[in-house]
Amino acid sequence: MTESQKGEALLEARSICKAYGALQANREISLTLRFGEIHALIGPNGAGKTTFLSQLAGEITPDRGRILFRGRDVTRLAVHARARLGLARSFQITSLFRSFSAADNVAMGVQAREPHSFRFWQPARQDPILREPALAVLDRVGLAAKSDQRATELSHGDQRRLEMAMALASDPLLLLLDEPLAGMGPEESREMTELLGRLRDAHGVLLIEHDMDAVFKLADRVTVLVEGGIIASGHPAEIRDDPAVQHAYLGDPVSC
Ligand code: ATP
Repeated sequence: MTESQKGEALLEARSICKAYGALQANREISLTLRFGEIHALIGPNGAGKTTFLSQLAGEITPDRGRILFRGRDVTRLAVHARARLGLARSFQITSLFRSFSAADNVAMGVQAREPHSFRFWQPARQDPILREPALAVLDRVGLAAKSDQRATELSHGDQRRLEMAMALASDPLLLLLDEPLAGMGPEESREMTELLGRLRDAHGVLLIEHDMDAVFKLADRVTVLVEGGIIASGHPAEIRDDPAVQHAYLGDPVSC
């Protein structure tokens, strides 16, 4: 990351609104995601976090509002077109090719960014153009030693690292992560938190996470959603001390 990139506004959401029938899932949400920052989006179940993230990724279209990526209006751009600009959502375990090796899974992500990706996909182990960058990404997430294991043979924690590797394979500027620590044991969580912390060196990150210890450890900025609207946004210390957040979301003072 260069000094000029650090802090660059990558993505700007302006007054995003999304309703499902009578339910207002997102109300006038505006926020800015910056290169080199981890921005945590927190809030109780059903607050509208995933709905918001899905609109940034392009899977859902807002009813109102605009999304700008590096100054360009992407509000109606398809998922793959946003991905090509440098916006990646982490894959879900269900989207892994379970009988393929870890390296082959990541190679598919690498192939998606390569200009010669239009040919039919061939096993990555036969193609150094894909395999070498795939191994480099697996190394970044701590899976280098398991590159030839099938996805299905990996532990839950390692499968979640593999999802992360697949998202990183396209070398995105901005990563959208929906509960990367979900379902992990304490040791797996600790390792994933360390990995997430390193991401800010080369990316901007939007992080939805219920693990408050991890959120307050990792986030440079925290935005709190309640019933579809932002009730607070700021540095973690401000959020921790905000009476509205403590009352409306956490019930008690945040312990961390
Ligand atoms: P959680 O922390 O439980 O994942 P969340 O903050 O991510 O919750 P969303 O999943 O965005 O919340 O859901 C916001 C609200 O919108 C919820 O009341 C949910 O039931 C509703 N909702 C989400 N998707 C749909 C849909 N496709 N159709 C109808 N209602 C939906």
